[in-house]
Amino acid sequence: MGQRGSNKPDVERYLKGRKRETEHRANVLAKRERQKKAVLGEEAPPADNTLTGTILTRAKSGLMVQADHDESHHWCRYPQKGRGAMPVPGDRVSFLPQTETTDGWVEEILERKNLLRRWSFGRIKEIASNMEQVLILATPEEPVVHPRLVDRMLVGASVGKMDALIVVNKIDLIGMDTALEWSKPWRMAGYDVLHISAETGEGLEVLHGRLRNRVSLLAGASGVGKSTVLNRLIEDLDLDTSAISEATGRGVHTTSFTRLFPVPGGGVVADSPGVREFHPVLDDPKELEKHFHEIGSRSGECAYTHCLHREDSDGCAVRAAVENGEIHPLRYESYQILYTSLLEGPLRGRGR
Ligand code: GDP
Ligand code: ZN
Repeated sequence: MGQRGSNKPDVERYLKGRKRETEHRANVLAKRERQKKAVLGEEAPPADNTLTGTILTRAKSGLMVQADHDESHHWCRYPQKGRGAMPVPGDRVSFLPQTETTDGWVEEILERKNLLRRWSFGRIKEIASNMEQVLILATPEEPVVHPRLVDRMLVGASVGKMDALIVVNKIDLIGMDTALEWSKPWRMAGYDVLHISAETGEGLEVLHGRLRNRVSLLAGASGVGKSTVLNRLIEDLDLDTSAISEATGRGVHTTSFTRLFPVPGGGVVADSPGVREFHPVLDDPKELEKHFHEIGSRSGECAYTHCLHREDSDGCAVRAAVENGEIHPLRYESYQILYTSLLEGPLRGRGR
């Protein structure tokens, strides 16, 4: 037997090879054409193919980016090596679009206006960026939300340079009197508070007005009614089969990741996962009073510059305001507990 057989198989192999090559080239060209169509959409993106957009959500499988030019959605990866933090929902990014065959690629996080962060099991967790306000949804009953959780979230929003709006839900269940009594500490401190029922729709119009044309983050413990509020505000939104997971088939788990949704009439609302605890990230405990408006605004009047506003602090203007009823005792208590927990250093997912 000859080492390489007769000539015939060689010719066949050559012809087969040519055929494969031609097919391959045709495939590549067709694919490129398809990709071009998919990418172009209605309006042509910039010639270099880099687009700008907003991170809508972050899942284990990637980042969902909404392109500015046509609002198309793209699953993207972010090659993180040596690049510091991951993008978070609300981030403005430059990216290469998704194609039929490949995920897109986030190239760069554009400058952040602000960032909401918290401690989570000994690590700093970045929740969302570029939010204008944090909507803290809470309820005194079913489930019982500890007022201090609201205070901690208020501090987190303030540290992140975001406005805060407190929304007490389930007034149909608890009654307006209970709701008003419960929200008194924050109303006294001058915070914006709404009382609503996602069930009956009471107050939802006012809430809608506060969300319109703004970028808001919806935060609150599980069970307070975040999904119900979103479903009521955003028609046709069925959170369990949200547009994002439907469009991509990747099934973003409804409660694990922050997601951004459009508000009817303009605006964006980000729905963040329910948290039982919220530990704001604040390096210097002395800074804390700045984030309790009614305390920070009075500390200049204390007899001592470094007054700790304790019960036995001499000439303390804050204590005086607590005693004469200008500062709610629950807010004062929250301040002291948070101050102590900040002194103890980064919390490891524990603490009061
Ligand atoms: P989430 O975990 O914050 O998303 O809370 P859900 O929206 O899933 O609501 C938790 C439960 O509270 C559900 O059974 C809702 O039907 C109920 N719920 C939500 N809003 C209201 C309300 O305004 N009144 C009453 N009575 N129940 C509500
Ligand atoms: Zn003082």
